[in-house]
Amino acid sequence: MAYTFSGGIDLQRNGKVPPKPVSRLTELDRLILLSPEDAGFKPDVKEGDEVGAYQRVGTFEYHGDEIPVFTALAGKITRIVNEQDRVRGVIVSPDGSDRRAELHVCDDPVTELSPETVTGIMKDAAIPCRGSYGYAYRRVLAAEGGTMRFILNCCESEPGVFSRRKLIDGDLNSVIDGAKLLMRALDVRRCEIAVEADEKYYGRIVSAVRGDPLFEVHKMKRRYPQDEEVAMIYAVTGTRLSDADHPERSKCCVFDAEVAAAVYRAAVLGIPYCERIVSVNDENVLCPVGAPVSELLDFCGITVDRPEKIILGGPMRGKLCKNADDPIGPLTDAVTLFFPGEGKDIPEMKPCTHCGRCVTVCPSRLLPYYLAGNAKKKKYGVCEEYGARACTGCGCCDYVCPAYIPIKKLIHTAKRRLPEELDK
Ligand code: SF4
Ligand code: SF4
Repeated sequence: MAYTFSGGIDLQRNGKVPPKPVSRLTELDRLILLSPEDAGFKPDVKEGDEVGAYQRVGTFEYHGDEIPVFTALAGKITRIVNEQDRVRGVIVSPDGSDRRAELHVCDDPVTELSPETVTGIMKDAAIPCRGSYGYAYRRVLAAEGGTMRFILNCCESEPGVFSRRKLIDGDLNSVIDGAKLLMRALDVRRCEIAVEADEKYYGRIVSAVRGDPLFEVHKMKRRYPQDEEVAMIYAVTGTRLSDADHPERSKCCVFDAEVAAAVYRAAVLGIPYCERIVSVNDENVLCPVGAPVSELLDFCGITVDRPEKIILGGPMRGKLCKNADDPIGPLTDAVTLFFPGEGKDIPEMKPCTHCGRCVTVCPSRLLPYYLAGNAKKKKYGVCEEYGARACTGCGCCDYVCPAYIPIKKLIHTAKRRLPEELDK
């Protein structure tokens, strides 16, 4: 039997996982390494400095902590980027050399690392995670040692995204050993692996952990958004979350396969998080974080002005790329392209017909039409009362709404205003 959650939608997958192996993008004109828009950047380097691969080039502040920024490729710092009188990051011009920064690996055997040490490694390697915490170490700290169940997500995020299955294809041992390190960080004795009911990948994972009492493998029904923490916790444990931004309250923790592999690489090889697999059509590319989208497309043989629309991420949750020089971010798992004639224009919004389709598909069991209606009237207190905090922004409601109401956006706005409303 395959596990699933209530709600969600069946989405046509873009065929089978492309058979081509993951290619590596190393020849680039530049890497654009920036802090988030609202954070200042403190460079460790200056213009003209030579840097090695995996070298720290600066830090930015994130919720009171310093998050390091690394370059995946060796080269020269050609520019310190300033925006509105503050430093935002650096531009590296890769030189094609294999010069590397000195890497720091753990002196202790990884099987003996304390939760604090593993969490510190995750922080120092800047390993990101999806969801409200942004970085994997913050998600661990939020759990305060109270995690009862740890789920390793090996399900793919969206249609047309293959990065997780490609990681399992090429680096399953890192994922499994990284999961053991995450168990140490969370101080749990068992890991439940969730993988789509795809015989090949399910079979590979079952074989890899066979006989190991630390692991149990769950087959998941293929249904979007099965990889979201809220949906996955419900599917595996039956626990429903009332606040998507505080999943730790469920005493369950979900980390993606990429996080596990990144923890392994940081702890055992000393390699910080600065590259990831990105799906682009049938290509899967190990891409440095900071590579301009235009150079990634060029590497995949796509002329940048051919697509009508470029989306950073999958078609459901991705963000419109307004400038082809925008850099690939640490969580960008795909670049989705719409060629002329493929992307339909969104028709004009109509009044809600109360058809109830949005209610049927909402994995958080909300009343999306009601929340959207109240968000539009700025009645944020009502949104709070009707559970807006549980909205994960999956977009299933938008996808099925025959009136083309931007439900997700309206609820997102309400969620951002909730604290203000509560303070009144
Ligand atoms: S799907 Fe759209 S039209 Fe139907 S109830 Fe929801 S918001 Fe209204
Ligand atoms: S975006 Fe929010 S309201 Fe809409 S289906 Fe997803 S969880 Fe439900």
